[in-house]
Amino acid sequence: MNDTTILSQALEFHGHKCWASTAGVRLGLGAMEALGVSRAGSKQLHAIIETGDYHGGMCFGDGIQFTTGCTFGKGNIEKTGEGKFAVTLIDKVTKRSVRVAYRPTLQPQIKATPFMQKRAAGVPPTQIPEAEQLEVVTLVWDAAVEQVMSVGPVLESSWSEPEEVVRFFVCPSCAELVAEPYARVANGEVVCIACSGYPR
Ligand SMILES: [Zn+2]
Ligand SMILES: [Zn+2]
Repeated sequence: MNDTTILSQALEFHGHKCWASTAGVRLGLGAMEALGVSRAGSKQLHAIIETGDYHGGMCFGDGIQFTTGCTFGKGNIEKTGEGKFAVTLIDKVTKRSVRVAYRPTLQPQIKATPFMQKRAAGVPPTQIPEAEQLEVVTLVWDAAVEQVMSVGPVLESSWSEPEEVVRFFVCPSCAELVAEPYARVANGEVVCIACSGYPR
């Protein structure tokens, strides 16, 4: 891949350099290319990623967020929790979707790098020398498309989301701003969940 601008910006956002965030960047770009769309400034795209919680390689999600504009803050990204490295990108405007999955052809090489050896031994990525971080990034970035991803067919998508509620209230108990659907009635007062004492 020639244009490294998006890669360096994504890694800057991510906080360190690693194979999984780089794979996320490549797959995010691949999914956008398959659909012929550009980064979502608003919520025209929706991403469903298949990573889970508390496992290696979750960094994949940051590459997807950065490239597609499907972000935690906008709420147009979700995780299926399957511990897999794939993304289904949905174009809400044209009602089409594509699933792009990471292909593990490079995994033996990635696993053998000093970076991954140290990660496996519990060293945080930020404490691994920059050159060793870059080695895994380059492996994934410079690989041929077929080595790192399989791009599924572009399909019609019936995915839809509930309408967004753009109303808020100030909780009389803690004086903090709360989105209206999260209001609870406790002791005759409309309060936030924390002040209601009800379970989240
Ligand atoms: Zn990472
Ligand atoms: Zn409150």
